[in-house]
Amino acid sequence: MSTYPEKVTLEEGLGLLLPWGNPVGTECVPVDETDGRVLARDIISKENIPPFRRSPYDGYALRAADTADASRETPVQLTVTEEVPAGSTATRAIGEGEAVKILTGAPVPEGADAIVKFEDTSFTEDTVTVFAPSKEGSNIVPVGEDVKEGELVVEKGRLISPALVGLLAGLGYENVKVHRKITAALLSTGDELIAIGENLSPGKIRNSSIYAIHAYLEQWNVNTRVLGIEKDNAQRIADRMLEGLADSDMLITTGGVSVGDYDMVKEALTRIGADILFWKVRMKPGMAFIAAVYQGKPILALSGNPSAAAVSLFMLGRPLIRRMSGMKDYQTKELKVKMADAFPKKSPSRRMIPGTLEILNGEAWIVFAKKQGNGMLNPMRDCEILGEIEAGSPPLRKGSIIKAYRFFDR
Ligand code: AMP
Ligand code: MG
Repeated sequence: MSTYPEKVTLEEGLGLLLPWGNPVGTECVPVDETDGRVLARDIISKENIPPFRRSPYDGYALRAADTADASRETPVQLTVTEEVPAGSTATRAIGEGEAVKILTGAPVPEGADAIVKFEDTSFTEDTVTVFAPSKEGSNIVPVGEDVKEGELVVEKGRLISPALVGLLAGLGYENVKVHRKITAALLSTGDELIAIGENLSPGKIRNSSIYAIHAYLEQWNVNTRVLGIEKDNAQRIADRMLEGLADSDMLITTGGVSVGDYDMVKEALTRIGADILFWKVRMKPGMAFIAAVYQGKPILALSGNPSAAAVSLFMLGRPLIRRMSGMKDYQTKELKVKMADAFPKKSPSRRMIPGTLEILNGEAWIVFAKKQGNGMLNPMRDCEILGEIEAGSPPLRKGSIIKAYRFFDR
């Protein structure tokens, strides 16, 4: 008989589970497929962006020194030697008393050290008149303003955002080394479950949770292998577990993790020879939960109750998945929020209450989901954050400050 801790705190559970979430291997993918993927190498720029001194406006490039005495009363007139649109370069450096007509995005000619916008000048075909002194460097975008050559642009382990996709393209990366997507096998257990296409008969319910879990995993860039529904039978569940684990990085099951006669998942885990890391977490919803490992692959056995399954998946599964996906910042981010509603009961247990984050007068508030309860999916519908009611809390008034966990960060 192997032994394992029971009724661990969330933090103890994470401490036991997360070390099993080893980052998966890497692959090279085209840059336009990298949004939401995790970078697998440091990106050190071999180039400057922009690669040349650039004009941010349509105007005239000139020598600031030539304009030192310019004013409304004593304007300075310069000779325009040529025009430089974006994509071209000046044919020669400018000299004293000279200016070049320059357009947005064009390189600043040699000799010039300031740009004056069109609207601040008066001009003819070959002269420009300025009415105020220019400061050296004014309106010139320096080389490497966005990215400097040799700079560490982004470290490995970062989730790639749309702007980072653009930056990588700007740096010339046609292909990018990222972590491959992890694959999770999904198994629903329960004698009462039917597939959505089947007709309801007495005592049966549709398998809804797994669709929600599937959709969360898609959002987290996880590939899934849906194993379907299995009856509350330890050997059959064990067989399906092995089938799922054979070609996946992890397994997620629902149902059968409490103490009832039909709760067969723990027995199935024992039969396949998985190591159980812990059973039950001291939070509500989400008390019923088993974490296990089989040949180095994590197994999350979630409650059949839809909200409980979602809360366990958010609090324990998501950081594990982020770590396996190669992310350095895999931990759930916390914030302090004010409660927009009271929590009118004493709470002997630690509770996670789904809600939305609202910003009012610069303060963060949590608006609790209208419906609460383990057995429902509705409470999770608009969940952006989980507000924490600490174990042993008295009734809490509206406006009380509590800790919350956020799930919409990148
Ligand atoms: P269990 O975790 O097996 O004790 O199930 C707890 C509750 O969740 C029971 O009311 C089940 O009928 C329900 N349930 C179990 N699996 C699912 C599922 N996949 N979708 C919706 N409800 C479920
Ligand atoms: Mg059950």
